[in-house]
Amino acid sequence: MRPRPTLRRFTAAAAAAVLATSITACGNAGNDDSETRDVDVAENAADEFEDGTRMKELAEDGKITIGVKYDQPGLGFKGATDDMPRGFDPEIGKILAGSLGIAPEDITWKETISDNREPFLQEGEVDLVIATYSITDERRQVVGQAGPYYVTGQQLLVRSDNDEINGVEDIKGSEVCSVTGSTSLDNVKKEGAKPRGFDTYSECVDQVLDGTVDAMTTDGTILLGYAAEQPDDLKVVGEPFSEELYGIGYSKDRPEMCQWINDTLTQAFEDGSWEEAFDVTLGESGVDAPEKPELQSCDA
Ligand code: GLU
Repeated sequence: MRPRPTLRRFTAAAAAAVLATSITACGNAGNDDSETRDVDVAENAADEFEDGTRMKELAEDGKITIGVKYDQPGLGFKGATDDMPRGFDPEIGKILAGSLGIAPEDITWKETISDNREPFLQEGEVDLVIATYSITDERRQVVGQAGPYYVTGQQLLVRSDNDEINGVEDIKGSEVCSVTGSTSLDNVKKEGAKPRGFDTYSECVDQVLDGTVDAMTTDGTILLGYAAEQPDDLKVVGEPFSEELYGIGYSKDRPEMCQWINDTLTQAFEDGSWEEAFDVTLGESGVDAPEKPELQSCDA
């Protein structure tokens, strides 16, 4: 692993209390109740990387573009009046940028939806995708995915007054929505549900709320964010029925980024910044940071 460079500490506004009970009934996930977290920014970072690597280029430019979700409370969320997206994924982005000497304010955030994550990386629209992006063999055919930095599993979200769907065993024949380009739709199709795909989760939640579809499905962490926003109207049901390993997407043309990402994540696991990132985002709901996941080798 690379030796750790000298660091400057930046106090940057971190994620809002998106899953906390402080969320108002009107679903204001972009509230001002944000916590702060010190972000380490390496000094003279460009010296740490070999010529010709993408990390060296980014460190020399002092800029990076990162794709995150804008509609997933706790993970990646940007309200209409927010300057920056908030959530665990942007916090992981700040950790990676910091290791290149790039301060949070020099990160360009770009909204990615599930369906455009691969094309955004392939076309160089973004340098990294950190957007609840499960590692899959299929995706790894076209992009690089390092990590995982978080593990979750697919669950179901229904209206609070729905007594019929209590888990994946009850969805046969039901209309279940999710977003196109996600792993979730394929999984419920296998379970006999009628899948309904939308571009964004917000559209899917609205369909559950107005009764057009019976349930929404995606990773449990994402669903909990929505349920926490509208606890009187929505609930998460059943046990997780898949394992989703969140990876960090990079261009397949830049394979050297994999080891840098893994080294930086290892450092963040060890120095407490990963846990801190969790605590000020998803952890705001009162849950403790989970076990740190085991990173996959870049040689695999
Ligand atoms: N983690 C799953 C995926 O990457 C579902 C969530 C999402 O679409 O971002 O497909």
